[in-house]
Parts: sequence; structure tokens; C-alpha cells
Amino acid sequence: MAVGLVRFDEPSDGLAQALELCDGLNGLRSDSKVLIKPNIVIGSRSRSRPTPGVVTSAAMVEALIDLLREHGCGDITVGEGSVVLADMGLDTNMAFGSSGIGEVAERHGVGLVDFNAGPFETIETGEGTARLSRRALETDFFISMPVLKTHAQTKVTLGLKNVKGCIDSASKKKFHDKFDLEASIAVLASKIPVSLTIIDATYGLQHGPFGNDIRQMNLIVAGKDRISVDSVGAQLMEIDPRSVVHLQKFAELTGRTLDDVEEVRGARIEEVAQKLEWRLDWPLDLLDRYRIEGMVIDTPGHSNCSGCSVAVFAALDRFLRENQGTLFDNVEVCIGKEPIAKSGSRQVFLLGKCPMFVNRELKDAIKVKGCPPTVQDTYEALKRCAAKSG
Ligand code: SF4
Repeated sequence: MAVGLVRFDEPSDGLAQALELCDGLNGLRSDSKVLIKPNIVIGSRSRSRPTPGVVTSAAMVEALIDLLREHGCGDITVGEGSVVLADMGLDTNMAFGSSGIGEVAERHGVGLVDFNAGPFETIETGEGTARLSRRALETDFFISMPVLKTHAQTKVTLGLKNVKGCIDSASKKKFHDKFDLEASIAVLASKIPVSLTIIDATYGLQHGPFGNDIRQMNLIVAGKDRISVDSVGAQLMEIDPRSVVHLQKFAELTGRTLDDVEEVRGARIEEVAQKLEWRLDWPLDLLDRYRIEGMVIDTPGHSNCSGCSVAVFAALDRFLRENQGTLFDNVEVCIGKEPIAKSGSRQVFLLGKCPMFVNRELKDAIKVKGCPPTVQDTYEALKRCAAKSG
């Protein structure tokens, strides 16, 4: 086996070539039940489609469906379990629509599955249980189709982490607030047989997993061996695969090492790689961008779920934008389970269940309930209560 790495002008040509180089459709029969799992982590409310590089492109999914049809496959489904935030109107169906993948599926007579909706199998992660969509297991040929992204918590989010979209929303929260995130990703990946991984590297996303800091790359990585494909993906962003904890843990779990990787056919990694930075301190970025002083927002670390990050970011962005250049009176905002409020803070906001739990001794804090808290409640609490200096 090998990994195919191809530079493309047209997704369909590039994908066909990459699959040929890695013999990616080997083992696929025309009567196989095929499941495509793109990364559509979140829907977009903007009129334009989601920022390229954040979600798998509809063009790449369409190119794959065309190739599968040429192979004679009749039973194809696309599945995802996107971020659900009711007050922002976000869920998987919305994400299928805004990504353009829903429209592609409809045009090609391909089914869509919301992994958040069940039915579920209960799996053991080693630290507790999680609920995995049964639909992710009831397939003969699982194709993981992530984008090439950095991730502020796990350095990269590629084929292995992409399957986290197959568990329900409550389990996703547990992965962040109760379990070791990287170890749980490795265990989950080991429970889902994946026949083929295709990284859509049309763009590479720096400072991911959200945002718009993209580099055009026009690459496709494909292969049947997940360790090898994710290892190539990390190297394309000039990130050492050995420093990616969930990749290391998955290798250990499956009796492998990261030295034991397949040959790369096609383009040469060193000729097409681009340095992408994964570290991101978004609270500090917000405070800098809006010239805010007298307010501390600690980086939430591993403990913050995607839904919480999105909701709290949206509320803080709106509030701080409206208060550009303000000097606050020693205000602290806590998000996730890691930040413990500092004793010198004059006013502390605890946004959601997690910071309320770890700072439960703090009787005077301003608490915004919810898991995650809603954008509106968070914004209103900040607007109503945040004390300005002078
Ligand atoms: S409060 Fe936020 S970070 Fe904590 S479990 Fe709920 S959604 Fe996740």
C-alpha cells in the first residue's frame, strides 16, 4: 500500500489520480454499502458558503460520488454530526445545506445521515462510555474525508479526529470536559473500521479549527492506512506527526509506530508543504483586536467543546466590538474547565456549566447557565453587568 499525494487543477482529476496511486478503491464492490464522512463541523449562517478550509468542499465530495458511481456503487450515504446550537439555528441539516454537500447529495440520489440523531451503540473509551452512531458502523466501506486543518487543541484535525463527528453531542462534550481528549479520539478511531481516508487539501487552515486564515494548496492526500495519511497531512502543514498526541496514541493502540508509515507516491511533501501555525489564543486576539483593557479571558485549553467556543466567541465578539477601546474595572471571564478565577479579580463571569463547577466556591460571580450557554444570555449578562473603570 502507499499514500497518494497529488497536486490538482480539477478536484475530479486529482482525486482519480490520488486513488489510483494508493489503490484506494481496492476491496470496494459495486454492492458495498458506502459511507462518506466529510468534515462539516459547523453550518454557516452567512449567505455565502462556509469559509473554504473549515469544512470539506462540496466539489470534492461530488468528485468522490462520481468515482464511486463509475465503480458501480449504488448504495452511498453521506453522514455527519455537526455542532448543534439551537439559538444560532445550527445543526447537522443546516450544515449539510450551507456547505453545499446537501445539494450535491440530492442531485446524485445519495442519502444524508445526521449522526447526532441516533440510533446509538454505547462504547467504552477507557474513561467512561460514549454513544456512537450505529449508522457509522453499519457500512462496508467507510471513507473519512477531512480537510487539511490545524486545531488549537489537538494541533491537527485530519482523518483520525474526523470520526469524532460520529458520536452524539453529549459524548462530544464528555470528550472535552471529562475524558482525556487525545486518548479518547484514538480509542474512538480504533472502534470505527475506516477503509479509505481522503484529505481535501484544496486549502490548508491555519489557527483552526474555525476562522478564515487559509492557504491555497490544491492538494489531495489519499490512502488506506490512517496513520500514514494523517502523518502526511501533518507534514504538509510542517507539523511533526510525532508531536500529535492522538496520532501517537492511535499508533500505540494498534501496535504500530510512527516510523512504520507507507511510501508516498506522487508529489514530494517537501515541495508542496506550507508552514501553518496551530497555536491560537482567541480570547487574547479578541482583547487585542478591540483594544480592551482591564479584562482577562484565559485560554480555555482542552476543556472547551466546539459548541461552547462558537457560542461564547460570538457573544464576546459582539460585546467587545460594541465596547472598543474600553477600560474595564478588573473583570475576568472564565470559559471551560481549566481557568480558575484569580483572587484579585473584582468581577468574575462564569460562562456555562464547566467554569461554574470548577469555581463553585465563588458565590459573588456572575453566572451564565447552560451547556453551552446561549449567545444571547452571555451577551446580555456582559452588557448588563461588566463594570467599566471610572
Ligand atoms: S459548559 Fe461548555 S465546555 Fe462545558 S461541557 Fe458544556 S458545552 Fe462543553
